[in-house]
Amino acid sequence: MRIAAGLIFAGAVSLCATGAAWSQTPATKGTTAPAATAAPALPPAATPAPAKAPCSNPDALGIGRVVEIDTTGGPGFGFEHFKQLDFLREKEVVLTFDDGPWPLNTPSVLKSLADECTTGIFFPIGKHSTYYPEILKQVAAAGHTIGSHTWSHATLTNKKLTEDQRKEEIEKGFSAVKWALGASPSPFFRFPALQHPPEMVTYLGTRNIAMFSCDLDSFDFKARNPQQVIDVTMKKLDKLGKGIILMHDFHKHTAEALPALLRKLKADGYKVVQMKAKAPVQTLPQYDEEVLKDAKLPTVSSRPVSSVVQTISE
Ligand SMILES: [Zn+2]
Repeated sequence: MRIAAGLIFAGAVSLCATGAAWSQTPATKGTTAPAATAAPALPPAATPAPAKAPCSNPDALGIGRVVEIDTTGGPGFGFEHFKQLDFLREKEVVLTFDDGPWPLNTPSVLKSLADECTTGIFFPIGKHSTYYPEILKQVAAAGHTIGSHTWSHATLTNKKLTEDQRKEEIEKGFSAVKWALGASPSPFFRFPALQHPPEMVTYLGTRNIAMFSCDLDSFDFKARNPQQVIDVTMKKLDKLGKGIILMHDFHKHTAEALPALLRKLKADGYKVVQMKAKAPVQTLPQYDEEVLKDAKLPTVSSRPVSSVVQTISE
C-alpha cells in the first residue's frame, strides 16, 4: 500500500552540458573495501569543500536533462519495484551510486564523473558518512545529488527488527548524512538490498521521501573485474534502451570501470539525466541527536591537535 505518488516536474528541464560540476579530487586507484561497518570515526574538518569549475572537456558525456522531483507522498522510481512513473525518454540514463562514502573508490568515482562533466545520485550509508564526512562533502561540492541508504545498511525486511528500529535506520541515515554535509540532503532513499517492507514504504510516503529502486542492476558487487561491470551494464541497458542504473561507489571495480563505461555511454548515444529534489529532507531532531550521541561526534567544530596540545618541553 502506498501513499499517492508525487509529481515529477520533468518539464523543468535545463540543458547544462557545459556547466556541469567539476571535482578537484585527485584520481586514485581503488582498493577492496571491507564491509560496511568498521572504520574509525573521524571528526569533521573545517576545510571548505572544493569549488566547482566549468567543464573543460568538449567531448564530455555531460548532462542531457535536469528534472526536479516533488517528493510529496513518497514517489517510487525504478521499474524493478515501482512502475508508476515512467519519465525517462529513450536513451536516457540516471547514474546512481550506493554504500559510500569510502576512501579511494568514492574520490575515484568523483574524478571520473568530473572528467565527463556528468553527475549521479549518491546513496551513502549513515555510518560511513560519519567516518568520512570530508569525502561526502566532496560529493556535494561536485554538484551531485545526495540521498540516504540507512544508518547501518540493515536489511529492513529482517523480522528481528521492530518497526521503531526500522524507522531509526531510515531516520538516522538521513541525520548522519546531514551531520556530515552540514546541510540536509535530498529526500531520496534507497532500501538496502532493494528489500522493500510495505510498512516502511508507507512510512516514507508519510515523510515525503522518494524511494529509488532501479531499472537495471550493474551487479558490480559480484563483478570479477572492471570489464564485467561494463559488459553487464551495457547488455542490460541496450535491452531496455534507458534506465536508472544501480552501481556502488564503495567498490573498487566500479571505480575502475567508470571511465570506460561513461565513454561507452557517450559513444552509444546515451544521455545522463540529473534528478534533483524540489526541497531538502526534513530530518527529525530526535535522530539528529541520536547520531551525535551514538557516534560520539563533536557538537562543535573540532580543533586540530596542535591547537589543543602543545609540547612546551621535551
Ligand atoms: Zn547498499
